[in-house]
Amino acid sequence: MSDDAHKELNRLRDEIREHDRRYYVLADASISDREYDRLLERVRELETQHPERITPDSPTQRVGGEPLTGFEHVEHAVPMLSVDNTYDESQLREFDQRIQKRLEGDAYAYLVDAKIDGVAISLTYEDGLLTLAATRGDGATGDDVTANCRAIQSVPLRLSGSNVPKLIDIRGEIYWPRAAFDAYNEQRIANGEAPFANPRNATTGTLKQLDPSKVVGRGLAFSAHGVGRLEPLDDFPDSNLELYELMRSWGIALYRNVQCVNSIDAAIDICNAFSKQRATLGYEVDGMVLKIDSRKQRERLGFTSRYPRWCIAYKYEAEQGESVLLDVDFQVGKLGTITPRARMEPVQLAGTTVRHASLHNFDQVERLDVRIGDTIIVEKAGEIIPQVVRVVIEKRPKNAKPIERPTICPACGSSVEQDEGGVYLRCTSIDCVAQRKERLTYFCHRDQMDIEGAGKVLIEQLVDAGLIKDCADFYSLHQKRDQVAAIERMGEQSTDNFLAGVETSKQKPLSKLLAALNIRFVGGSTATAIAEHFENIDAVMSASIEELLEVDGVGDELAASVHAFFENRANRDVIRRLRDAGVNVTQPKKTTDAKGPFAGLTVVVTGTLEELTRNKAHELIESLGGTVTKSISKKTDLLVAGTKAGSKLAKAEKLGVEVIDESEFIRRTNS
Ligand SMILES: [Zn+2]
Repeated sequence: MSDDAHKELNRLRDEIREHDRRYYVLADASISDREYDRLLERVRELETQHPERITPDSPTQRVGGEPLTGFEHVEHAVPMLSVDNTYDESQLREFDQRIQKRLEGDAYAYLVDAKIDGVAISLTYEDGLLTLAATRGDGATGDDVTANCRAIQSVPLRLSGSNVPKLIDIRGEIYWPRAAFDAYNEQRIANGEAPFANPRNATTGTLKQLDPSKVVGRGLAFSAHGVGRLEPLDDFPDSNLELYELMRSWGIALYRNVQCVNSIDAAIDICNAFSKQRATLGYEVDGMVLKIDSRKQRERLGFTSRYPRWCIAYKYEAEQGESVLLDVDFQVGKLGTITPRARMEPVQLAGTTVRHASLHNFDQVERLDVRIGDTIIVEKAGEIIPQVVRVVIEKRPKNAKPIERPTICPACGSSVEQDEGGVYLRCTSIDCVAQRKERLTYFCHRDQMDIEGAGKVLIEQLVDAGLIKDCADFYSLHQKRDQVAAIERMGEQSTDNFLAGVETSKQKPLSKLLAALNIRFVGGSTATAIAEHFENIDAVMSASIEELLEVDGVGDELAASVHAFFENRANRDVIRRLRDAGVNVTQPKKTTDAKGPFAGLTVVVTGTLEELTRNKAHELIESLGGTVTKSISKKTDLLVAGTKAGSKLAKAEKLGVEVIDESEFIRRTNS
């Protein structure tokens, strides 16, 4: 390899590491995804030409090798103890008094850190290189999950910067940020799979994958909260807050607002203030941890048999409630998946009355051993649908009735089959009325054809009244206006609005239509990629599998699914009728308005919008010349803040970024 190529390779790898650090540690993306991919592509190119130059810490080497057959056990050099915890403020004060006594009047400070709800991990770096990632296990011995952790982008393969220790165990949590978790679930739903219920359990499941390539793309993240071994110890500061700063400079992500305070009152104030912000964080936090900042003082305080004496977690009450299971409903999804849902006596959870809770699948029903009549504990975490977490066995009545797996589809009576893996049941009929209703509702949803008023209730009524059977039927409904208006609670005005919405939806670009057709594996972004590639539906329909594979992001499974969909005569017939009705089947060339109101501006959208969906706001900004980014930085020109805008709003104000609300945003899009 020439010196130049070698130099370029090293420079590119450093550059990528620095971008990773900016992105994951500082939440401040310095380049676009596309530029980042270009750098990575160039590294890959150089490494293909010079395979001898591939090093284990190269950013191209996050996933490699064959799937594992199992996990090795590893012993922790320094045990991973759990942290004592309390829900009670007075116990925090008692903890503080014990500290005072043991430190015999010395001054001390508390580090106040967030307790991220994830899976505890220890990352070992030797001479800066990641050599081991291990789960906590029983505290003394854990599982070697190095291959899976390498596939998580926010885990640096090599520590960068100066003063990197000879040896360090970095302790922290692998967790699933809410946005990435929701996006992954959307993908699962588009694939006809049931969504994951709980980010922490799903993180545990992901880390147990034997095939590291399955970890890629899920968006798991790492955040550190401490250190095990550190060598040579004397080279590093006594203050953990200062050590945190060093760790950040090496590329390790930590909770951003960690603070150091000199009194228990100040620490408690932070905890109480934080409990109000936690919903805005973008990941689950179940409490705060108070830790003595000084390493030497920690050593003086030592351990009990179970916990370090120098730290305590102040946990927030889980939003749990007790109720009685009245019955189980079976819901049929748009691709036939049958999921059980608990119907229960109303219970107050997180300020709302809840009557239903998720049971996910039949494996879960069996694992919980839940029966009708049982007293159950339900929990609501963040924005997620409440779920049944356990049964209070002592309260089980004699006549409690087991829940049986349905043998026929509860909606249409067709036979059901077990999904691969055996966890899900699926209705086998393509004529299933429940599936049809789900598919038609999906067709009309605002992310697809965006037909006003066409929610689930109206769709059910239209199907039950025999007015629609497939999506092409929407476009002849104006001929049956009186019958539509005769539907219960419909009325003249709603009928006109709905039919006008149907008419407007004809102008949607091909990308929306493709997304709306319920083709297995095709979600919004894939539909857009396909539409932009082929530009009209005839080209999509006649595309071979090979041609479909040329589209960015389209793999074998997806290409086969699209191909099979358009091979089907009934589907071709629906497309023909849509076209005859005047529905647009072409994709406009992508244009950005260089003179638009957002030309040249970098814009971030945050909080809850009332009028627009988040996607719609992003589309508007881009079509009017702006660039959308996810995080606030010095480069941000404008923040559009909806209600409940949290940390981004605070950061924008701090940086002096212009902030506008939704109505001002809409006004500017029209100017
Ligand atoms: Zn069915």
